[in-house]
Amino acid sequence: MTSIAFIGLGNMGGPMAGNLVKAGHEVRAFDLVQASKDAAAELGVAIAGSAQEAVADADIVVTMLPAGKHVLSVWGDVLPRVKSGALIIDCSTVDVESARKAHGLAGERGCLSLDAPVSGGTGGAKGGTLTFMVGGSEEAFALGEPILKAMGRRIVHCGAAGNGQAAKICNNMILGISMIGVSEAFVLAEKLGLSHQALFDVASTSSGQCWSLTTYCPVPGPVPTSPANNEYKPGFASALMLKDLKLSQEAAQAAGASTPLGAAATQLYGLHNAWGEGGADFSAIVHLLRGRSAT
Ligand code: NAD
Repeated sequence: MTSIAFIGLGNMGGPMAGNLVKAGHEVRAFDLVQASKDAAAELGVAIAGSAQEAVADADIVVTMLPAGKHVLSVWGDVLPRVKSGALIIDCSTVDVESARKAHGLAGERGCLSLDAPVSGGTGGAKGGTLTFMVGGSEEAFALGEPILKAMGRRIVHCGAAGNGQAAKICNNMILGISMIGVSEAFVLAEKLGLSHQALFDVASTSSGQCWSLTTYCPVPGPVPTSPANNEYKPGFASALMLKDLKLSQEAAQAAGASTPLGAAATQLYGLHNAWGEGGADFSAIVHLLRGRSAT
């Protein structure tokens, strides 16, 4: 049993903390929102009066917060209270620069640290089937891996500090671009009088095959479990895709990488959100490309 502090009990963090309890760890947690604390308490998580109180005796601290500014603020607040030698793990999706700054803060306090963003969504958080993309030293990874295994199925060490976030935004840039490509093909097929099913049957077994087509098919019909068959309920919301695409473009600019399709995808998801579908699954981008929701 390890003593773990968990800060940020939202849609992802709450069930992740619950899975740590299920694995037999002692978890003391904090969130700013009462409803999130109540939901986590029902999963057996002990609720502390503040983030500083939660971390006081912890061997491991996990944060699951909205963005880089929240992570830097919370790490800044709790690090003076954390035991020297503790491991601090951030599982939020944040910009690479903030992730590396957070590692620096932990190092100054004599703590090991990991950036460990996830993929798998709220279903993966509840089911303990998340994929973790992890950046940090070998020593920190060896210490953190057993804890991450209580919350996920695949744990990939991507290299040094910040590389977990780098892997996450590169993957999601591929995903955003590929969903637009698949959606454009369905809209063209509609204009050409080709049925959704016929395009799916060909492309899913040909060189157009990809996850956006075969798992998250953006039109209703061919893939019964895709959000398109459930009124485009997320899934993975368009607003979160826009957030991750923006992170990819910030990183590309800082690193001097040329990502013209990533830039175009960021623009299109910006329009999709402004169009009013930010809360819908990101596969609903097909509506924007078509100019309306139904065929
Ligand atoms: P969320 O908004 O549901 O939860 C974030 C929580 O952090 C909230 O409960 C909020 O009250 C809390 N918080 C904010 N500032 C705090 C502070 N100073 N102290 C304590 N608590 C604080 O968000 P989420 O969906 O759980 O996502 C968390 C992170 O995971 C984000 O970075 C997101 O991009 C990433 N992510 C989300 C999904 C998803 O499907 N929801 C999938 C993969 C990754």
